Amino acid sequence: KGDILHQRRPRHIIGGPKNLVMTHGCEGSVLKAEEIHQNDPRQRLVILGSGWGAVSVIKQLDPKKFHVTVVSPTNYFLFTPLLPSATVGTLELRSLIEPIRRLLSRLGGYYLEGRAEDVDFENQLVEVSGIHDSEGRKFYVPYDKLIIAVGSEAMTHGVEGLEHCNFLKSIADARDIRRKVMENFEKASLPTTTEEERRQLLSFVICGGGPTGVEFAAELYDFLNEDLVGYFPAIPPEEVQVNIIQSAGHILNTYDLKISEMTERKFKRDNIGVVTNARVAKVNPKSVIYKEKATGKEFEIPFGVCLWSTGVGMTPLVKMLVSKLPTGSQSNIHAIETDAYMRVIGTPEGTVYAIGDCATIPQPHFVDKVMTILKEHDTNGDNLLSYDEFKTLALDIAAKHTVLKVFLGHLGNVFERYDKDHSGFLDLDEIRTFLTDAEKQCTALPATAQVANQQGDYVGKRINTLHEIEHAEAAAKFPPFKYTHKGSLAYIGGSDAVLDMGKGLVYGGIGSEYLWRSVYFSEQVSGRTRLLLFIDWSKRALFGRDISKF
Ligand code: FAD
Repeated sequence: KGDILHQRRPRHIIGGPKNLVMTHGCEGSVLKAEEIHQNDPRQRLVILGSGWGAVSVIKQLDPKKFHVTVVSPTNYFLFTPLLPSATVGTLELRSLIEPIRRLLSRLGGYYLEGRAEDVDFENQLVEVSGIHDSEGRKFYVPYDKLIIAVGSEAMTHGVEGLEHCNFLKSIADARDIRRKVMENFEKASLPTTTEEERRQLLSFVICGGGPTGVEFAAELYDFLNEDLVGYFPAIPPEEVQVNIIQSAGHILNTYDLKISEMTERKFKRDNIGVVTNARVAKVNPKSVIYKEKATGKEFEIPFGVCLWSTGVGMTPLVKMLVSKLPTGSQSNIHAIETDAYMRVIGTPEGTVYAIGDCATIPQPHFVDKVMTILKEHDTNGDNLLSYDEFKTLALDIAAKHTVLKVFLGHLGNVFERYDKDHSGFLDLDEIRTFLTDAEKQCTALPATAQVANQQGDYVGKRINTLHEIEHAEAAAKFPPFKYTHKGSLAYIGGSDAVLDMGKGLVYGGIGSEYLWRSVYFSEQVSGRTRLLLFIDWSKRALFGRDISKF
């Protein structure tokens, strides 16, 4: 495919709103973006995506400077942190979304419900397919500046059978889970259902012990305790099982260790099973097979609902864009590499930015820096570090350099793979190999809304300020992006939440749920969704969850 415009030529040029120009039915030679530029003096800014990163950019933009077009298959912004609450009816799906057209109205911007299929970086055009175009017609949107904020998709780790799992990334995913949860409870209540079938239907397996998996388990726990007993008298509560399978040594392993332990203790009290140091080997239509890492022994758990939530990877568009950028400009296998100003490496300077889950900033000299620290700590000079020694050092380094946390968090999962002679020790060469691989396989910052939001703010402010003068000298005057970690939150059920404010400051306990709610309440993008959340929370407190299945 490669260079879309060298294969086609516009037959029709459709004058769109103001200077937005689209073409379709293209075949033949080259179309230059300038040829279709109309009289609007403002720069054409095209944003791919309508999620966290995109919306933060939109909030910053000056309407006098940019003619803005958003291209996204979803015509709304989704407040993902509360998505787990929608899987059992604690919150309604509509309370989590805000129409993108409403957010764009301040800018007089345009929205196109489509999927970006390709970008011609040289001629500055995005190839788009309309979501509901059954004939598969494509059109092209020209840009002066492009912001790629298309997020990520679930990582599969090459595991077989994921078609039997549910995912939790979108409104449709949450709706599917909610329907399936209610359906399983209804089926399990039928007199014709055997005890074995009931146990299978009421077994919830969560693959991945990150915040999404933990919050889904917490919501299920609340649902079982607050609604199940009253509404499903035919189901003995002890027949409902919730199990989390986690590959690392702890759940919530990117949070402070105290938080992980606090959550594990709470889940133990709540009868939520937590299997750590285990990898899912296969998912069958009705059971999950996992392997204990230490012994290699296989176990099987039947399930009625299996949630797959084990990290994020590149979307097909991002994979394709990375592969067509100049050789040597990109090496990360999970995201598009940008410079410290969020500009995509390998694209014409100042024209293309990438933010959020789909982007990463390579850390110069990361491997050398960590190796120097490790050598300094190798006091007996034997060039060997045990897993525990390395882990302690890694945590110490991570505490001082937030940005390294994700790289080093990866260590626990792969130690054995790099310990070639199975001695329980890594020598410095093995550690260097590990770090070099980790650099390619991990993103420098976690894939969170907090990061996407700050990057979007940064890029919005940057392009407002630099506007048309994005050349090396002016660009250098604008400081590079700097991430400020404001803390991590997770709801763990039964009116408890955990808060990790960094530097060892953690909180969980009395009032934590209200703190958690108030943070998300204040982060809403509109007064409308704030009101809807308030109504949902009040409704649930007064009447319980809406457990109808539709
Ligand atoms: P998204 O917000 O995912 O937006 C991507 C956008 O791109 C979407 O609008 C999508 O439709 C669009 N798109 C996709 N493909 C194309 C294409 N080809 N062309 C055009 N548009 C496209 N983070 C936190 O900080 N705290 C939390 O508590 C938290 N909880 C989470 C809970 C869940 C259930 C999930 C799924 C995520 C959670 N996250 C949380 C992570 C957070 O949601 C992501 O890091 C964040 O959404 C990333 O923002 P983004 O703009 O990069 O991508």
